[in-house]
Amino acid sequence: MVRLARRATRQRRLIYEAVASTDTHPTAEWVYAAVRRAIPRVSLGTVYRNLALLVAEGRLKAWARGGSTRYDADVSAHDHFLCQACGCLDDLERSREPLAAEKKLKARGYVVTERVLEFLGLCRECRRGSKARKTGGEKKWLR
Ligand SMILES: [Zn+2]
Ligand SMILES: [Zn+2]
Repeated sequence: MVRLARRATRQRRLIYEAVASTDTHPTAEWVYAAVRRAIPRVSLGTVYRNLALLVAEGRLKAWARGGSTRYDADVSAHDHFLCQACGCLDDLERSREPLAAEKKLKARGYVVTERVLEFLGLCRECRRGSKARKTGGEKKWLR
């Protein structure tokens, strides 16, 4: 029992560390590939389960869009930019002033508990057309 619990703790720690080792907001599949280097017998199901637990514990944030979920070890409030060409997800510092829309909601009596702000477009590399050559068209977060 103790050995099993210790193994579960180690798995969860390695899964967390894999997400925290990159700022690319990796997918579960990326985390699985990274963790398998340390624990060859880990299953994708175990990775999914632990990622969900870490999100429930508030240690990771999940970002879901179009059927794919990405994980963020930075749980502080920040916004994102998504490149629609290569899929890279970049962090944006959150400004301290409330947005005009938030002020409007407040004035109408709404309470805002969370804000999800995303910008979509092309990253610098994709705009220059250099990414495809550099990475062979691979998605940036899979590097
Ligand atoms: Zn891009
Ligand atoms: Zn982020």
